[in-house]
Amino acid sequence: MSNLVFNFKSKKIKKIKNPKFILGGKGANLAQMGKLGLPVPPGFTISTGVCEIFYKNNKKLNLKLIKSIKQELKQIEKECGKKFGDLENPLLVSVRSGARVSMPGMMDTILNLGLNDDTVKALAKKTSNMRFAKDSYRRFIQMYSNVVLGVESYNFEELIENYKLTKGVLLDTDLDENDWDGLIKDFKNVVKEKTKKQFPQDVYEQLFGAISAVFLSWESNRAKVYRKLNQIPSAWGTAVNVQSMVFGNMGNDCATGVVFTRNPSNGKNEIYGEYLINAQGEDVVAGTRTPNYITKKANKDSNSKGKSMEEAMPKVYVQLKKILKLLEKFYKDMQDVEFTVENSKLWMLQTRSGKRTAKSAVKIAVDMVKEKLITKKEAVLRVDPNTLDTLLHPTLDETKEVKTIAKGLPASPGATSGKVVFSSDEAERLNGMMQDTILVRVETSPEDIHGMHAAKGILTARGGMTSHAAVVARGMGRPCVSGSSEIDINYEQKIFRTSSNVEVKEGDVITIDGSTGRVILDKVPTLKPEISGDFSKLMSWADSYRKLKVRTNSETPLDTKTAREFGAEGIGLCRTEHMFFDEDRILSVREMILSKTIEDRNKALAKLLPHQKNDFIQIFEIMSGLPVTVRLLDPPLHEFLPKNDKEIGDLSSVTGLSDNEIKSRTEELHEHNPMLGHRGCRLGISFPEIYEMQCRAIFEALVECKKKKLKSTMPEIMIPLVSTEAEIKIMKDLVIRVAKKVQDENNTKISFLVGTMIELPRAAIKAKDIAKHAEFFSFGTNDLTQTTFGISRDDSGKFLNDYIENKIFDIDPFVSIDEGVGDLIEIATLKGRKQNKKIKLGICGEHGGDPKSINFCSKTGLNYVSCSPYRVPVARLAAAQAELKK
Ligand code: PEP
Ligand code: MG
Repeated sequence: MSNLVFNFKSKKIKKIKNPKFILGGKGANLAQMGKLGLPVPPGFTISTGVCEIFYKNNKKLNLKLIKSIKQELKQIEKECGKKFGDLENPLLVSVRSGARVSMPGMMDTILNLGLNDDTVKALAKKTSNMRFAKDSYRRFIQMYSNVVLGVESYNFEELIENYKLTKGVLLDTDLDENDWDGLIKDFKNVVKEKTKKQFPQDVYEQLFGAISAVFLSWESNRAKVYRKLNQIPSAWGTAVNVQSMVFGNMGNDCATGVVFTRNPSNGKNEIYGEYLINAQGEDVVAGTRTPNYITKKANKDSNSKGKSMEEAMPKVYVQLKKILKLLEKFYKDMQDVEFTVENSKLWMLQTRSGKRTAKSAVKIAVDMVKEKLITKKEAVLRVDPNTLDTLLHPTLDETKEVKTIAKGLPASPGATSGKVVFSSDEAERLNGMMQDTILVRVETSPEDIHGMHAAKGILTARGGMTSHAAVVARGMGRPCVSGSSEIDINYEQKIFRTSSNVEVKEGDVITIDGSTGRVILDKVPTLKPEISGDFSKLMSWADSYRKLKVRTNSETPLDTKTAREFGAEGIGLCRTEHMFFDEDRILSVREMILSKTIEDRNKALAKLLPHQKNDFIQIFEIMSGLPVTVRLLDPPLHEFLPKNDKEIGDLSSVTGLSDNEIKSRTEELHEHNPMLGHRGCRLGISFPEIYEMQCRAIFEALVECKKKKLKSTMPEIMIPLVSTEAEIKIMKDLVIRVAKKVQDENNTKISFLVGTMIELPRAAIKAKDIAKHAEFFSFGTNDLTQTTFGISRDDSGKFLNDYIENKIFDIDPFVSIDEGVGDLIEIATLKGRKQNKKIKLGICGEHGGDPKSINFCSKTGLNYVSCSPYRVPVARLAAAQAELKK
């Protein structure tokens, strides 16, 4: 058991291989800061392993552990020269969570523990500061009752607010010791009424209650949601840190603050943070008082009237600045630091790698290479590929007139529009109906995490750049404007009113710009982002390390152009059925599908040929010099059939068929399981003329491009939904037959490859036979996942959550490749290569843009991944990281 509790100064820590795994991030870093000689209040860490023991022991602390904790507490008493529960010089402690990776605000913290009706008097006497002692005691009762005893905090907040109203003051700091005295009595009455017990006076009961509560908060709903979103295994557990208290609320030579060593929003190499004089930590993060900036410059940049720490506490500021530099040099990363100043003495309470926007992550990584703090390889590994998405996302079109109705802090960049909602549940409900929302809250709390995830953007009336809303939004890549004091929210009436008297109701559409802090009425057009020099540099480093090629899934000239600009090295999937969705083409497609005779079908196909050919010319031009995989038609038929009287009428006038004939033919074509029906190469087998037309369009387009003397494109003609050798053989013969014809007609030579999707389990298992006729395989992991599990990709949304809740799936298998599906890919890879050493292997299901799946593809030895245009940079970076991690 002694190995499960560690004093921050314990020599045993040195021997631990991965301190964060055992001590959690906070515990490991506190111990490290101590080792660096920084001022850290004494304390100890109860290791993450105890979390599991706690749950196995019926959510109770066992006796051995209690004994170890008491022993370690004695050690802190010695180091501080104070005693826990003492009536002369009482030791107070904080009890805080600390998992392996930081989960800001998701778990519980208790401060000022060790105060009771007697020790509060001793504290007052010792510090000669009655107001401070009473303020600390009421804070403790509030926090402990909420976190450990489950009394909701509004019970206490209401009492404070009403009291302030009666007294006619605005701020908590306007209340004196007598005011707090009365409120403490009221608080204790609330506890008695709600829990039917007195507020605990025994300091050990307080301590063990708090430690248990922190362990319990590991399984709280908000922590579970956060873990799910960030793929943190529940088996990791949290550590608990018990640390002697230092006080930022003892008077005007005291303060507390949060500071980043660089700007977390734009990455600039300047200290960025906030602090409050005469306050405790939770006042800064909870957004209950709006804090001031740390530096003079930040104050000036934001026209703030408050006094910066640099001006108010110049000596401590200089010391803090030095420490920040040292920490950054030691950890070789931007740090997010919590500190407290007690009677002008600086104490370090936490350091961790700071959460940052993608923009800031890229700039910091590139700058740190320039500063020789890290290598290029480290820089490439530093940026989370998933976050690049936000860099590539739209900004406001500044040429358009906009009606700015309020301003707030630019907390998380990106511009977005949506309907105003005032609750997280409503954001989630509308998200389920595919509606975009902006979640508007006075301030967010960790309970809002599902709403913040469901909403397109977040707007809050209170809180600074380090408030919960800002930190979480940045982590999620959601645009966020925080601390907009110009809006006044009325939850009951579901409206907010701005200081310029604009009223916005629930359901009204607004736009927020998280890069500038603007709140704008109505939807505003947005622009594609400019890629920064730092971004291009990081990408070029990534490209130099990766072996996997990155292609795109695209079938329109616009998407193809975007993808090429983002660095796509060809097209990995051009879904030709998507080229038929256009209004002027869909009639001919319907005509083709409904025709009963080959003559009628050929007539319809002849109308489609020029469109297809023209599309291919444009795409080949954009991708000139690069491979383009064109997949022959794979339409789930139901998507194309006429659905209403107008569509039937239109079709009737083109085909000459009566409405009734169309209806009955549509019924004939109806399938119970269209995803398993007459699609893919099965269509090509039944109606070869369709694929013939498509091949002709591809080859004629190629001839046109040749005439234009464009760098040649290598078309790769892909047959969908193959499961047998015979299917690919028949289809390949068809492609070669058409190619010969077009060659002869144009007296020219054309080069191309023929290959197949591997998207059915049988195809994967019989890959050796199929590879006899295929020059490439492209894994269609959407269908392969669907058919391996027998789970419909269209309907899985209804029950996948239950599967994740019940831990059957860690993650949606349609997002990250499942192990079983992965095994099939490995089998097909081995068998395919055995038959044909030169076979090209790629992936074109949605997984091609998912970093975890890309890692799998790299390990399996595929040649390329293909993903949607905006995921191309994500895939380039993920592919480099996969290589570097090998
Ligand atoms: C696939 O099944 O993975 C695939 C790329 O094809 P589609 O999504 O068009 O069925
Ligand atoms: Mg498919």
